[in-house]
Amino acid sequence: MSKQMLILDTSCPQCAALLTEGSQILLNAFVHDTHQEGEMRLSALFGDYSVATELELPPGSVVEFRCPRCEASLTLPLACKLCGAPMTSLNLVKGGYVEFCCRRGCQGHALGGIGDIDHMMSLMNRMFETPYD
Ligand SMILES: [Zn+2]
Ligand SMILES: [Zn+2]
Repeated sequence: MSKQMLILDTSCPQCAALLTEGSQILLNAFVHDTHQEGEMRLSALFGDYSVATELELPPGSVVEFRCPRCEASLTLPLACKLCGAPMTSLNLVKGGYVEFCCRRGCQGHALGGIGDIDHMMSLMNRMFETPYD
């Protein structure tokens, strides 16, 4: 299974705008710790947690993500099980969704959830469209 080639096609849960551009997920972000707002690009590669942004992003800072088209907040009323920061949710074009913690450096930041293997596997299966058990 070539993990490197797996790109998450994401869309806004509110307006259905495509958020993935090439191998990046383009979002607006508000950094709570610094009160800065701007563009942020998350890697759309499954399992890659890299972030590209002009914003200052101190380790541990909490980011609120918004849709660049409709500006809806993508934050869920759900706390990360690891650190208590809010979770962010994006829809997947092929069905389903991904959730990740919005605290920089938290392991829950992993796209795809917080290490729930069953959830990850069913997500992978949906994306590859190959049932596997
Ligand atoms: Zn939107
Ligand atoms: Zn967290």
